[in-house]
Amino acid sequence: MMHQQMLDMIQQLNDYSYAYHVKDAPIVPDAEYDRIYRQLQEIETKHPNWIQPDSPTQRVGEKPDSGFANVAHTVPMLSLDNAFDNESLSDFDQRIRKLLKVDHITYCCEPKLDGLAISLRYEEGRLVRGVTRGDGLSGEDITSNIKTIYSVPMKLRTSTPPAVLEVRGEIYMPKEGFEKLNALAVEQGEKTFVNPRNAAAGSLRQLDPKITAKRPLVMCAYSIGYVEGWDQPKSHYEGLLQLSEWGFRINDLMAKAEGAQGCIDYYEMLNEKRVDLSYDIDGIVYKVDQIALQNQLGFIARAPRWAIARKFPAQEEMTRVLGVDFQVGRTGAITPVARLEPVFVGGVTVSNATLHNKDEIARLGVKINDFVVVHRAGDVIPKVVQVVLDKRPDNATDVIFPEACPVCGSDLEQVEGEAVIRCTGGLVCGAQLKESLKHFVSRKAMDIDGLGDKLIEQLVDQELVKTPVDIFTLAEKKDTLLSMERMGQKSVEKLLASIEAAKNTQFNRFIYALGIREVGEATARALTSYFTELNDLMAADQEALVEVEDVGPIVAQHVHVFFEQELNRETIKGLLEAGVVWQKKQQIFADELPLSGKTYVVTGSLTQFSRDQVKDKLQALGAKVSGSVSAKTDCLVAGEKAGSKLTKAQSLDVPIIDEEGVIALLNQHGAI
Ligand SMILES: [Zn+2]
Repeated sequence: MMHQQMLDMIQQLNDYSYAYHVKDAPIVPDAEYDRIYRQLQEIETKHPNWIQPDSPTQRVGEKPDSGFANVAHTVPMLSLDNAFDNESLSDFDQRIRKLLKVDHITYCCEPKLDGLAISLRYEEGRLVRGVTRGDGLSGEDITSNIKTIYSVPMKLRTSTPPAVLEVRGEIYMPKEGFEKLNALAVEQGEKTFVNPRNAAAGSLRQLDPKITAKRPLVMCAYSIGYVEGWDQPKSHYEGLLQLSEWGFRINDLMAKAEGAQGCIDYYEMLNEKRVDLSYDIDGIVYKVDQIALQNQLGFIARAPRWAIARKFPAQEEMTRVLGVDFQVGRTGAITPVARLEPVFVGGVTVSNATLHNKDEIARLGVKINDFVVVHRAGDVIPKVVQVVLDKRPDNATDVIFPEACPVCGSDLEQVEGEAVIRCTGGLVCGAQLKESLKHFVSRKAMDIDGLGDKLIEQLVDQELVKTPVDIFTLAEKKDTLLSMERMGQKSVEKLLASIEAAKNTQFNRFIYALGIREVGEATARALTSYFTELNDLMAADQEALVEVEDVGPIVAQHVHVFFEQELNRETIKGLLEAGVVWQKKQQIFADELPLSGKTYVVTGSLTQFSRDQVKDKLQALGAKVSGSVSAKTDCLVAGEKAGSKLTKAQSLDVPIIDEEGVIALLNQHGAI
């Protein structure tokens, strides 16, 4: 009874696994699979003599004693001729039509997976051996590693299997699994793999199958080798469909094509899809579909006459780093770019490749004059993926990261924990100018109506505006404005009027307009209600800045560094000289206001007013409102559920009032 139950479990687990690993259509959640798997393990522990060879528990075995044995292939594993363009593909079609004396050939087209070819031998339906391609005549017996791959059936899904069946296929690592594997390697400080193919090869050559078992490998069948006791279907395509029924994964993009033109169309189709596939392919294999015709054509040397591989342009090539340039992006990010000896890769000539950031340069260990591997897939920006250390020349020199922005000379800053290094000259950096101007004039900033994105780009391109200050001198360049595209008398006058009007602004808008990193509207408001004077804000150090509500150490650093830049300070001065002003209501009477010089902190939840309303009212009475309690705090307003700020105020003996208390205070000064 229990024995039959065990056999049923094996069948069920193998069905689930087939649906998951071969059909990509899971039937049950992983947890259900694991539950049955554990039950099976229990039975097998109790009855070790019952263990079946196709039990999923048998996939991961022990280390083989002595490396991998060499095994001869019953039928050699062939290599294919290559076609690198449509013309040689047409020649191939013409050649075999002539040999066969036919007008038309049907081909089977399959994506050529970039992995490792293997041959699997099944006897009476059971997997007995898995061998690498090797030199085509013999390869290494890696059965114990092959078994760990779930898309390799341990047993064919049929009750009437051929006596002997050899299946040829490719073992590969999908891109996602490859990226995860490399991420893990980085985390554990181990060496990363250059590409999925190397990762698949490295995984299969592990002497310990337990390691191979952890690697995300997939097997996809592409042809039938030696067989006994079975009449093969008459077409290659149908043969693969039969393999699919027996439990093998076949490529779902496999298709039949008619004649040379059909093959070319298939190439165009797949070349477009290539980048988006979840696995790497390096070309297409075209095979004459009719087995009878294949046999008629036969072989030349070790390549079949009836098949050809059409290669995609290589995605990786080796070339030399001539130098490293540093580009400044629209947001100020400094990106190192390797200048390369031009090389044809991914279908285009590449002479630059990104090195991403400083950390990546260190990780690659790249030096100027080094030979490197450049990768380019689809429209993706080419990147350097590896240094070829064997070829490092004597004149290899270190890459020196600049200390100042190569465009504007401002200081660079790197936020802790981030890889990106940025220019701090937000207002003045030419590289960032268009973006910072668009922000500067936007509605919530300086609000200059009529100065749209297109016009800003024109003004910058024609060098009429080099800094935000130049916007306020545009009136002097009226004639030039009139000569610009789509700028009539009326629109120019309207623009100049709104520029004039924008000079009257608010302090918080002005600070927001400066485009300091991570200083949004709310932060600008908080900064300007705490530091009511521009000079105080500009002079504030990080310690003073973190006193402001919602300003943490990173924002404080951005603000501090921004105002430290000489060019930023000059621009601010220029803006004020150009006539930018704001009402300093609170300043005029500051000393006379009832709460002048007092610092308040508001915390907890209030019922009659929002926290922001209370803060505004306190500020209107001259108080500073801070975000954190310190010894300098004069009073804490604590609503319901006040937390750490209340505890801190208590420990520092800071006076505390509740909601009623603050309402009374505001009433007393006529603020409500
Ligand atoms: Zn810059």
